[in-house]
Amino acid sequence: MNSRIIDGKALSAQVRADVAKQVQALKQRGVTPGLAVVLVGDDPASQVYVRNKAAACEAAGMLSRVIPLGSDTPEGELLAVIDTLNQDPAIHGILVQLPLPGHIDTGLVIETISAAKDVDGFHVSNAGLLMTGRPLFRPCTPYGVMKMLESENVPLRGAEAVIVGASNIVGKPMAMLLLAAGATVTLCNSKTQDLGAQTRRADVLVVATGKPGIVRGDMIKPGAIVIDVGINRLPSGKLVGDVDFDSAAQVAAAITPVPGGVGPMTIAMLLVNTLEAAERTLNS
Ligand code: NDP
Repeated sequence: MNSRIIDGKALSAQVRADVAKQVQALKQRGVTPGLAVVLVGDDPASQVYVRNKAAACEAAGMLSRVIPLGSDTPEGELLAVIDTLNQDPAIHGILVQLPLPGHIDTGLVIETISAAKDVDGFHVSNAGLLMTGRPLFRPCTPYGVMKMLESENVPLRGAEAVIVGASNIVGKPMAMLLLAAGATVTLCNSKTQDLGAQTRRADVLVVATGKPGIVRGDMIKPGAIVIDVGINRLPSGKLVGDVDFDSAAQVAAAITPVPGGVGPMTIAMLLVNTLEAAERTLNS
């Protein structure tokens, strides 16, 4: 292996320690940042994510409130819960764990969260602010990727950045953040023809498709920085990313592992967003 490993676990620990310090300072000023996480249903993966988010929140000295709701909760009841949290001055950030059961309109739920408490950054007004270069909340996963690139001193101005995957929660906001940093951005989706021709141009390659092994070493420019956002559980139980790590690590200058790469950064940036939301209440 020739690549440097970008250690998301270590970087996230630094970010979280820094957040914890700032939480203490904010508490001195009478504000304890509070995050509410709403979980609908009993999807085991979602339960783990919610548990991890709540634990990280508490470890940073923040108030954490988890609101578990049954999988058959009517949409109106969920919207009412969100509305109560919108009004609650102890809560600065609200996150509804996705995916939601099929009978609930996810878009409507996201739009019901107050944009000022939308720490996931998915609300349409936060997406619009990000797109117009005035971000309030940056979505946690792409925000974490930017932190990783910054920690590695990766030059982004004028760099060719290629993103594979164009979802609202990862690929699209990632494109906006890289564009704002001065990169020339290519955003690929499932209809992209000759994916390798796109990825081989990348100085910075971000992969977020949910397709294990979609990017192999022969699709990577030698010396590129490779960020693997994917989290996939193989039938064997092994957790892997979207990038074929072994072949990619022969070619890339630096690469994120899965697990221990982008995943821990997502939670760290959720804490950053919650802290920032709480800080803003002091100035409002
Ligand atoms: P989505 O399923 O919402 O989006 C996947 C995207 O990948 C779509 O834009 C899709 O294209 C594109 N895609 C699918 N197949 C191909 C292909 N063959 N070639 C090019 N593009 C393709 O997924 P998410 O964005 O929510 O998540 C992606 C991955 O990242 C998942 O593994 C998820 O678990 C992981 N994830 C990890 C996080 C972390 O903290 N590390 C956080 C969030 C997600 P199209 O638009 O045409 O359908």
